[in-house]
Amino acid sequence: MRARIYPLALGKILHHSISNLNQEVAGLMVGKVVSDVVEVWDAVTGLQQSSPAYVKLEESVMALVAEVLVENIPDLYIVGWYHSHPGLNVFMSPIDIETQKAYQAMFPKAIALVIDPVQFSASWKVSDLKIGVFRIDKNEKVVPVRFTLGLQRHKVLESTLIGLQMIDLIPKKPDTNEDAKGSTTKMLDIDSIVKFFSKTKKLLPNKKG
Ligand SMILES: [Zn+2]
Repeated sequence: MRARIYPLALGKILHHSISNLNQEVAGLMVGKVVSDVVEVWDAVTGLQQSSPAYVKLEESVMALVAEVLVENIPDLYIVGWYHSHPGLNVFMSPIDIETQKAYQAMFPKAIALVIDPVQFSASWKVSDLKIGVFRIDKNEKVVPVRFTLGLQRHKVLESTLIGLQMIDLIPKKPDTNEDAKGSTTKMLDIDSIVKFFSKTKKLLPNKKG
């Protein structure tokens, strides 16, 4: 399996991770699987709890993104997640492994992208970009996934337009007092997520044999 990341998606991940070099940030990657290549068309983020070495995306974010996709862009689905390791380098921590296992349980081809943006943010040299894409194999080992930047012209354009559209489709973080409603944080709507993933599985090419 390989991964192909389109420019706007990579740009959004970079922008998000560089915007907060003191804390980890996380988000979801949206795209599709085309003959064993996981294509990342867009990256979206939402509410999360974070610290310098920990981040957890609220589960409601996945439900929201899934809903937006099903209603507006049914060709695309959640293909994985990204998070940053500012200054910590690129690897999968034990918590990351557990998170990735949960993604792969929902979507067997899910990938995890880890980025350490610190060096790049100082130099803006491509050679300083530290990015890794990973999966967990059958033996529960972390395996790197080879990835390239998507450059096919019409897909760059298509993914860029969809990525721009997503900016308006995903509501901004409510600028509210989270403490006040902390204890009433929405329950994960498991039904809608399960429905979403069973739908995406049907869209996937049958890879038997
Ligand atoms: Zn991590």
